[in-house]
Amino acid sequence: EISPVHLLLAGLNEDQQRAVTAPEQPTVVFAGPGSGKTTVLTRRVLYLLNRGTPAHQLMVVTFTRAAAKEMKERLAQILPDKVHKLAIGTFHSLFLMMLRDAGEQVYPLLSGVQQTRWMRQFLEERGQPVDDETVSTFLNQISLCKGNIILPDRMKVQKEKNILFRDLYMAYEEKKRAAGLWDYDDILLAFYHKCQHSRTLSEWQERFQHLLVDEFQDINFIQYHILLKLTQRHRRLFAVGDDDQSIYGFRGSDPSFMLQLKQDFPELRQIVLSVNYRSTDEIIRLADQLIQHNRMRQSKPRAGTGTRGLPVQWMDPENEEQEAEQILARLRDGMETAVLYRTSTQARALIDALVRKDIPFSVSTGDLSFYRRWQVQDILAYIQLAFNPNDLDALIRIINKPKRYLFGEGWVEAGWALARKSGRTVLEVLPELPCLETYQIHYLNELREMVPTIRRFSAVRAVRYICEMIGYSRYLEKYAEETGNDRDLVSEPVDELLLAAEHCSDGQALLMHAEKVNQMVKNNEQSPQVKLMTLHKAKGLEFDRVFLIGLHAMVLPHRRSLQVPESRKRAAWEEERRLLYVGITRAKSELYLSISKERQGKRVGISPFAREIGYGGAVDSFCQQIQSVNEISELRKSTPKKTLTSQPQMRFAKEEVSPGMHLIHNRFGKGAVIRITSIEGVAPGRKVLVRFHDHTLTLHYELSRQLG
Ligand code: ATP
Ligand code: MG
Repeated sequence: EISPVHLLLAGLNEDQQRAVTAPEQPTVVFAGPGSGKTTVLTRRVLYLLNRGTPAHQLMVVTFTRAAAKEMKERLAQILPDKVHKLAIGTFHSLFLMMLRDAGEQVYPLLSGVQQTRWMRQFLEERGQPVDDETVSTFLNQISLCKGNIILPDRMKVQKEKNILFRDLYMAYEEKKRAAGLWDYDDILLAFYHKCQHSRTLSEWQERFQHLLVDEFQDINFIQYHILLKLTQRHRRLFAVGDDDQSIYGFRGSDPSFMLQLKQDFPELRQIVLSVNYRSTDEIIRLADQLIQHNRMRQSKPRAGTGTRGLPVQWMDPENEEQEAEQILARLRDGMETAVLYRTSTQARALIDALVRKDIPFSVSTGDLSFYRRWQVQDILAYIQLAFNPNDLDALIRIINKPKRYLFGEGWVEAGWALARKSGRTVLEVLPELPCLETYQIHYLNELREMVPTIRRFSAVRAVRYICEMIGYSRYLEKYAEETGNDRDLVSEPVDELLLAAEHCSDGQALLMHAEKVNQMVKNNEQSPQVKLMTLHKAKGLEFDRVFLIGLHAMVLPHRRSLQVPESRKRAAWEEERRLLYVGITRAKSELYLSISKERQGKRVGISPFAREIGYGGAVDSFCQQIQSVNEISELRKSTPKKTLTSQPQMRFAKEEVSPGMHLIHNRFGKGAVIRITSIEGVAPGRKVLVRFHDHTLTLHYELSRQLG
C-alpha cells in the first residue's frame, strides 16, 4: 500500500519536503552533493503515486543502469507491486522501449567489442595506426557528433585529420546500416526524429506525463531537446542536478542546460537544498575548499549536519606497493570502503595485491583490466610465444611490432603448413617462408633466435628484454611519434608492467597472474570487501570510507585532458577539478588522500589540486592511530551545538542514540557512535556507525539502543 504523505516526508528537511511536494509544474532542484537530490527524486515518485498519478505515467531517468537498478530496489521495498509499472532507466533504455512500443523498427545493438573491431578494420584499411586509444578516440568523436545531431554528410571539413574522421564516420555508419545494427546514439537519433511526428509525439506526451531526471548536469544536446519535446504539453519536468558534478563534458554533457531550463520554462520553480547529510564536516570543508577554485560555477549555500568525524588524512607512501599495503591493512575492520582513482592503470598495484591475498573486490564495470591494455598484451604475447612457439594469435599480434615487414595473413597459412610438414614450430620456420626478401629473412631470423631465450629469464628481465633487445620500446616510440600521442602516456603501461613483474618468478608466472587478474576483474565479486572504481564511475554513490589514490601531477588534472586548444584549457582544467570534487564528496565518514612519492618507479610531482586543499610539507602520518573512544568524545564536546539532534527535521534523533555516545557491545566492547547513517525508504531503518577499539562497524539503530 502507498504510504500516507506524512510518512513519505518523514526525515526530510523543509526544503526537501518542498521539493517532494512541489506543484506539478517544471521544477529544478539545484543542490550540492549529499544534499538528498536522489532521495528527493525517489520520494517525489512516491508522492505522485500517492496523489493518484497512475504508475505508468511516470518516467524516471537515471544516468547509469546501476543507478536505475538501485532506485527500483529502493522503490520495490515500499511498493513491491507497483514498481514494475514504472518506467525507470537510462535515456537509452527508456527510449528504446518507447520506440518498440510505438511499433517502430528498432535494431539490435552493436556491442562495444564489435564497434572496436570495426574501427580497427577501418583504420587498417586506411593505413592508419591501430591501437586502443586511437580507436576509442574516433568512436568517442563519432558519438559526440551524433549527440549534437551532426551527421557525416553534413560535416564541413578542411583539415586533413577531419577528412579522415569524416571518412571513418561515414564508413562506420554505412557498415552499421548494412549489418542492420544500431549503436546507442542511434536510439536517441531515431527517437529524436520520431518526436517530429506529431501523432507519435502526442501519444508519448500523454503516456508519460511526468518526467523526472536525476544527474541533470550531465545531459547532452540531443537528450535535452528530446526532453523539451516530451514535456511540451504537460510541462511536468522534475530535474535534479549539481553543476559542480558535471564530469562528462568530453562526451558532450553540458551543465548549462540547467540554466537554459529557465528560458525554456519561464514558469520554472527552482529549489535549492543546502544541507549535506552524507559527509562529516571535515569532508565537506575540504570539498568546499577545492571547488571554490572553479570560476565557472553557480554558487550554492552549503551546510553540513554538524557531524564531526576523523580528520581527512593524507597518506604519503613510498610507492604504489606500499600504498596498496596500507589500504589492505585498513580493510580488516569490515567498514564499507571504496578506492577511487583517475585512470584504471592506477589500480594495478592494489588489484595485484588483492588478488595475491585472495581478498574479494569489485572493479567498476567497463574498466579494463590492466593486463588487457594493448601494450601489456603485446608484451605478454611475446612471452606466450616463448613458451608456445605455435601460438598463432600471439605471433600475429607481435609480428610487426617492431616492423618485420610481413604483411597480410597469407604467411600464417604458409607457416602453419610448413611447420606441420617439417615437424617444427611456426616460429622456427618463419624465415624459410617462400618469397621473402633478404631484409625480411633477417628480421625473422632475429625473432626466431631471441624469443625462446625469454623462457630462461625472470619475469622482469623478460619484459626488459622484449622492450630493449627485441625492440618493443623502439616500436612504441615510433608509434607515439607517428600518431602524435604523448610518448610517456604510450609507454606508461610498460613501466607499470615492470613493477608488476617484480612479484613473479618468471614469464610463465606473470602470464598466470595476468590471467587470474583478468578473471577476477571480469567476474566482479558480488560481496566485495572493497570497491575499486574510476572517479567517473563513482558519481552518485556513497561509501563510509573512501581512499582517493594518486593525487599526482599529470594525473589530476590528467595530461590527456589538457591536450585541448588553448581556448578550452580552463574548462578542461575545471572539469578535472570537479572530478576530484566528486571523489571527495563520495565519502561519508572517512577520507584518505594518497600521494605516493614514486609512481612507476619515478619520483613524481603533486597534483596542484592537492595543494589547493592544504597538502603541505607537514603530512599527517597515515598510521596516526585511530582516535580512541575517549578522544572522540572529547571531540564531541568541542563541537558547536549544531548537531544532528538540533535539526528539527531530525527530531527522531532526540532519542537515545547520538554521535559521540558511548555504548558497550557484547562482542566488541566499548565503542563510540561516530555518526548516524540514515535512512532510505519511508520506514526509517536507521543505522549507526560505531568505532570500537580497533573496528568500525555499522549497527542497526534498534540494536544500538539496547546496547546503549
Ligand atoms: P549526489 O549529488 O552525490 O548524487 P544527492 O544529492 O543525490 O547526492 P542523496 O544520495 O540523495 O544525495 O543523499 C545523500 C545521503 O544523505 C543519503 O545517504 C541519504 O539517505 C541521506 N539523506 C538525505 N536527506 C536526508 C535527511 N533529511 N536526513 C538524513 N539523511 C538524509
Ligand atoms: Mg544523487
